Amino acid sequence: MNTIVTGLQWGDEGKGKIVDYLTESADVVVRGQGGNNAGHTVIAKGTKYVLHLLPSGILWDGKTNVIGNGVVLDPIGLVAEIERLEGQGIAITPEKLLISDRCHVVLPLHKELDAAREAALGDRKIGTTKRGIGPAYADKINRNGLRVADLLDESYFREMLAHRTAEANEVLARFDLPTFDAEQQADEVLAAFARLRPHVTNTIASLHKSWKAGDNILFEGAQGSLLDIDYGTFPFVTSSNTTAGGACTGTGLPPTSIDQVIGVCKAYTTRVGAGPFPSADEGLSDYLHDLGREFGATTGRARGCGWLDAVLLRHGCMVNGTTGLAVTNVDGLDQYETLKICVGYDIDGTRHDLPPADRHAWDRATPIYEEVPGWMSDTTGCTHYDDLPENTKGYLRRLSELCDTPIQFVGVGPDRVQTLVVATG
Ligand code: GDP
Repeated sequence: MNTIVTGLQWGDEGKGKIVDYLTESADVVVRGQGGNNAGHTVIAKGTKYVLHLLPSGILWDGKTNVIGNGVVLDPIGLVAEIERLEGQGIAITPEKLLISDRCHVVLPLHKELDAAREAALGDRKIGTTKRGIGPAYADKINRNGLRVADLLDESYFREMLAHRTAEANEVLARFDLPTFDAEQQADEVLAAFARLRPHVTNTIASLHKSWKAGDNILFEGAQGSLLDIDYGTFPFVTSSNTTAGGACTGTGLPPTSIDQVIGVCKAYTTRVGAGPFPSADEGLSDYLHDLGREFGATTGRARGCGWLDAVLLRHGCMVNGTTGLAVTNVDGLDQYETLKICVGYDIDGTRHDLPPADRHAWDRATPIYEEVPGWMSDTTGCTHYDDLPENTKGYLRRLSELCDTPIQFVGVGPDRVQTLVVATG
């Protein structure tokens, strides 16, 4: 069974827990897009591990983890991540971690170019994590990026990096940002790459071998569908395809290899950073923040919160081909008397069931809400779907109906046992 897990909102949906649950029965865990701007915290056997680029199967023995060709790889960042995990007693061998020779490389200069772009955008800035992900993908599309395979040929890499650095320095100088010495940068990248070299291989071939052998392959999505470069709330998006198609183009495993797509969403909506958020609600934000919920894991910044937005979820389910929903954080709504679900947008007097493309239309989109009764009881102790209060099941049924997708998992707390399995694919 080959399974794609994608977030259906703007990230932070709780994918980590669903991925962790599914990793147990996976033989191979693969990442196909994004870079080390993503990441989640996994608690395993009482220890906390932070993963950015490494697939979550790295915490298990006997699983193959693959960084697919669609990922942009920062060698310095990845080595730091590997060393941190090794320090926590996790062995990372060439059998356990495979890195695609086709991955594009995130260079130190890309991080400064990220800063330069944000500076140039001023008020219109995207709020990137400044990890150089956008500029690395831009170089890929511009066809002047460097790939992992190029790092294998040291003199070629040095020569190409000298060209790229000269170009980048012109841009950086314009913004009074630090410029780069090509030689020093090459030394740093190549020093880090020495640790990664034994892991580099043709991952497309390895993945096809696993597929043909009938292994269970789990595609671990990063970020969320609304951050997808094509299907998200452009321009407030990330630089890759976070939706299910990206799992195929980013790994070399074709659409015909996919058996199921699990879309993860919260029972409400949250968003960090800039961009449209029609169902944002101050009352719900205050309520969740008062419970100590929805603060960013690394920044501590309060996330914006709002009602479940079925317009966005419907769109997400369509473009992902979602076969089952995993609805997390249901427990967050335990004590809210009346809940709202956004079922459409009113834009200039016309009802829309799907999100608009026109970025200005978002400012005029008024949510059309349906009210449903809350359940006013603690769900955190529920261990089976049938234990859930009737109103919780009613809420989930309505969501399923609005998205035309069955509910497969329900999350009622951060613990593993608080993941309820509704139906198996
Ligand atoms: P990701 O960005 O989608 O991978 O999000 P994470 O997996 O990092 O999840 C964010 C946080 O939400 C983590 O601390 C999880 O333990 C927590 N979490 C996940 N599911 C639930 C849930 O159903 N209820 C509660 N209360 N917390 C959850």
